[in-house]
Amino acid sequence: MATKATRPSKTQGKTRGTTRGTTSGATVTDYDAIIVGGGHNGLVAAAYLARTGARTLVLEGRSKTGGAATTEAPWPDAPDFKVTRLSYVMSLLPPTIIKDLQLQKHGYKIFPMGPYYQAFPEGGSIKLYADDAKRNYDEVSRWSKKDAEAMPRWDAWLAGLADVLGPLLLTVPPNLGSRRPRDLAQTLKLAWRNRNLDVRTVADATRLMTMSIADLLDDWFESPQVKGALAVNGVIGTWAGPYEPGTAYVMAHHSIGDVGDGHLGNWGFQEGGMGAVADAIAKAARENGAEIRTGAKVRNILLKDGKAHGVILDNGQQLTAKVIVTSLHPRTAFLDHVGRDNLPDDFVRDIEHWKTRSGVVKINLALAELPDFTADPGTNLQEHHTGSVEMAPTMPYIERAFTDAREGRPATKPFSDGVIPTAFDKTLCPDGYHIMSLFTQWVPSDWSEAPHTEELQAYADRMIDCYNEVAPNFKSSILHRDVVGPYEMEHDYGLIGGNIFHGELSLEQLFHMRPAPGFADYRTPVPGLYYASSATHAGGGVCGIPGMQAARAAIADRKESRARKASEALKAARARRG
Ligand SMILES: Cc1cc2nc3c(=O)[nH]c(=O)nc-3n(C[C@H](O)[C@H](O)[C@H](O)COP(=O)(O)OP(=O)(O)OC[C@H]3O[C@@H](n4cnc5c(N)ncnc54)[C@H](O)[C@@H]3O)c2cc1C
Repeated sequence: MATKATRPSKTQGKTRGTTRGTTSGATVTDYDAIIVGGGHNGLVAAAYLARTGARTLVLEGRSKTGGAATTEAPWPDAPDFKVTRLSYVMSLLPPTIIKDLQLQKHGYKIFPMGPYYQAFPEGGSIKLYADDAKRNYDEVSRWSKKDAEAMPRWDAWLAGLADVLGPLLLTVPPNLGSRRPRDLAQTLKLAWRNRNLDVRTVADATRLMTMSIADLLDDWFESPQVKGALAVNGVIGTWAGPYEPGTAYVMAHHSIGDVGDGHLGNWGFQEGGMGAVADAIAKAARENGAEIRTGAKVRNILLKDGKAHGVILDNGQQLTAKVIVTSLHPRTAFLDHVGRDNLPDDFVRDIEHWKTRSGVVKINLALAELPDFTADPGTNLQEHHTGSVEMAPTMPYIERAFTDAREGRPATKPFSDGVIPTAFDKTLCPDGYHIMSLFTQWVPSDWSEAPHTEELQAYADRMIDCYNEVAPNFKSSILHRDVVGPYEMEHDYGLIGGNIFHGELSLEQLFHMRPAPGFADYRTPVPGLYYASSATHAGGGVCGIPGMQAARAAIADRKESRARKASEALKAARARRG
């Protein structure tokens, strides 16, 4: 067994261990590239690979593609009501991918979201706009004049940092610490690209990476209401309360602007729900020639002479390809599908120690009418229905919800990032009705181990009560509800531990550490096996970057290998000619 997670040299092309599965049975089909998992990242990888002419096959275990980007009709007696069952808003998909894959032609259509909105149980409300400084001033000054004045400086500070951090999203992390000339060159390249950073910007970036969102906001603002609203992005999907170090970065991850190939859009709703994003990518992949099979669950990745050689499906079918791209959670992709014996010990340990908690519960609702907020009355569609309809009134409220879960209880008063996509999107339900999606936190992280069905329903009741306190028609307006907890996320969607990003966005799991040191360049310890899940750099979120980068790595290696073979053949021919 190898003891270090060092990358095997390409010329040796070997990893330790035995071939997993058998390759002696009849191989049904041979492809150039097989993609394991038809979530949006797997589909992006397929589209890019197929674009080069590679015979590409996507294998998706569920009956439909999309993974966590899925639109479903969860109520059999109300099939006209569709929800984005897990992820619910877009922002992070880079313009390059949209353009390369011609996603707009395939149905990618975003409605920009309205403001953040929080109605307070003690009365009043606040709206925060992504791009309207004047209205922000008016809104915030109702709570604190000082905060209203600080807001434009905060926005500018954040925008400056986002412009530094944004391009890193499309950077392949260098293999820090490696002395291989190629790795050193990558590290130097990154340092050179950032040569214009000054002391102040580096200090600000360090603060952002290491501070809690609570401490950071305390440095800028005084009003609990403003701080509560701004804290939301720091804890989304995170197994950490707002006072935990690192949550300031989570906020930045959700606020990054320019990724180096253009500005990301503001948050927005995809017409037809998030499943329509995955469908648009699937169409692009098919148009480029990829084949997509659903109901095709992969059991193992096959190795031959230490290299990726194919896959074996649950039904026993074997398929081969020189390039395998897996987009599954790292525990499934590596520990289950490749096997510990076929991987370096250090790498196995890194994946075993991968943190993958979340404590998130998604609640999807069909509503007979829009929430009628006491602070902003009316069930007619108004601006505050069009953005995030939050339940995060103050920092201590959010912290309390996390503390409950960390102490082993579901939150008494959960935190929620709510949205009503049907404020724009008329395709999700019949006219006059609405869909509301509540992304809520937290339940104990070990709830991924058992269904906790009744407790989840009680948790959902409490969540609904919290909204009912500020919008008294809310409870009675609910026609149907769908509650998806961590167990279902793990067992039905492959999100181990219920983590929404295939792994926490904690500092020790970012950039060159994602998913493991030495393997952040979308390659893996197994030659020919590439990694495209949200557990790689720039994931998570529906951003497609891992899929694109894994495909690029595979394409670059294939080119390099062809060039090497051609040069060897030339040398051999010359040698024969004397
Ligand atoms: C509740 C929730 C809310 C979220 N909200 C947002 C949001 O609003 N905006 C945002 O940008 N992101 C959001 N996210 C995160 C985002 O959805 C994910 O990071 C992203 O969709 C993951 O994409 P992926 O392709 O990497 O993996 P996945 O979507 O997990 O895809 C992996 C695919 O592999 C399949 N699979 C698993 N095992 C096998 C097997 N053995 N054989 C074959 N196939 C297999 C799965 O069925 C799945 O389709 C949210 C996630 C959750 C869970």
